[in-house]
Amino acid sequence: RVAEEKNVRVDFPPDFYSELAKRHSKAIKEKKEEIKLSKSYPKTEKLYYDNPKLFEFSARAIGFENGFLILDRTAFYPESGGQDSDTGFIISDGMRVKVSYVTELDGVVLHKIDGPVPLGEVKGVIDQERRLRHMRHHSATHVLLYTLQKLYGKHIWQAGARKETDKARLDVTHYKKFSDEEVREIEKIANREVFANKEIIWFWMDRIEAERKFGFRLYQGGVPPGKEIRIVCVGDDVQACGGTHCSKTGEIGLIKILSVDSIQDGVVRFEFAVAEAAIEAIAKMESLLKESSKILRVEPQMLPKTVERFFEEWKEQKKEIERLKEKIAELNGENLLRAAEDFNGLKVVAEVIDADMAELQKLADYLSRKGALGCLMAQGEGRVFVVAFASGNYDAREILREVGKYAKGSGGGRKELAQGAAERLLTRDELASIIFEYLSRKG
Ligand SMILES: [Zn+2]
Repeated sequence: RVAEEKNVRVDFPPDFYSELAKRHSKAIKEKKEEIKLSKSYPKTEKLYYDNPKLFEFSARAIGFENGFLILDRTAFYPESGGQDSDTGFIISDGMRVKVSYVTELDGVVLHKIDGPVPLGEVKGVIDQERRLRHMRHHSATHVLLYTLQKLYGKHIWQAGARKETDKARLDVTHYKKFSDEEVREIEKIANREVFANKEIIWFWMDRIEAERKFGFRLYQGGVPPGKEIRIVCVGDDVQACGGTHCSKTGEIGLIKILSVDSIQDGVVRFEFAVAEAAIEAIAKMESLLKESSKILRVEPQMLPKTVERFFEEWKEQKKEIERLKEKIAELNGENLLRAAEDFNGLKVVAEVIDADMAELQKLADYLSRKGALGCLMAQGEGRVFVVAFASGNYDAREILREVGKYAKGSGGGRKELAQGAAERLLTRDELASIIFEYLSRKG
């Protein structure tokens, strides 16, 4: 709707949905390519579909291959739909074996375990805290997408999502960047959905019937396979989804948007944290503020003003340092001019001084402007710098070349000012005799 009002046409290619589905299943296939099973197993009964708060269950171990345990039924959620897999334990004959990762291959759930487990009766225990965090992040992803569509229009489509323990991310199609004010508004409206404590329900439905009733907007997370699809309603939001969810939006607790970035043309990424993860993220930001205010010795609310003032002062001081450097160069230049030797009325300066290249150049620039001629050398940062300057019929580049012969150096520049580097630092007397030799030759 917003897109239409602003005369921006947002077209989806006619095969958008099937492309989306293809890409989705291709990505999953690529990841599982390395896992191969030697036998065929019945599809695993997925207990988390009905009860996502089932954290302990009994099952039969019916296979063990390549470090993966296969059960007849499981409450372990395999990594899918952008939701990270569960972890936990399998208990067999009083022995606890860690489950570190869970995935799925053609309907068979594979539990990555530390050691072999004898086939037969086992008990499964899910890491409850981890699952709850995934659930809250998953339900929040639906809430955030719903909020964005409500505020900005139906052209907003999920382009990707990921639900982890510490944070989640949602990539959406949108034609422009969101301002900070807009992000705060999105956060507020999304949290209103949370505070309203709306029902979250799920059920299975015939695919054709579901598409007719809810439209293709169901497929925000990709098109799932099968004749029957699982529908998840988070408040007024309806999506085809196989993930585990809270039973009410209130369980999400709090949605804190951490960052909003444009990740490619027309795709915006939201990173956010919910519940405990949100509190952790806020605490992290708070400690950053506290650390910064400790360094600057002001209260956090004074930080922006203080930082601005320090920045302005720093800029001023930088300018002042530049001005003082000019002044020092001028004073040093005057001293050098006073000590200059005479050659047919020309002031000749030859000196080895303590300075860096920038200072050396400033000094040479000053001396050439005063009509002097000569060469300055300095040693710094493991290198020898040379600057030559001239006026009238003389050429600074020629002086530099002459000095270079003795000091093993090279460089270039203008007729008035030339600079370079050398291997050997000459003495003041060596430098002076090279210049006077050059001048007598030139006449
Ligand atoms: Zn979902």
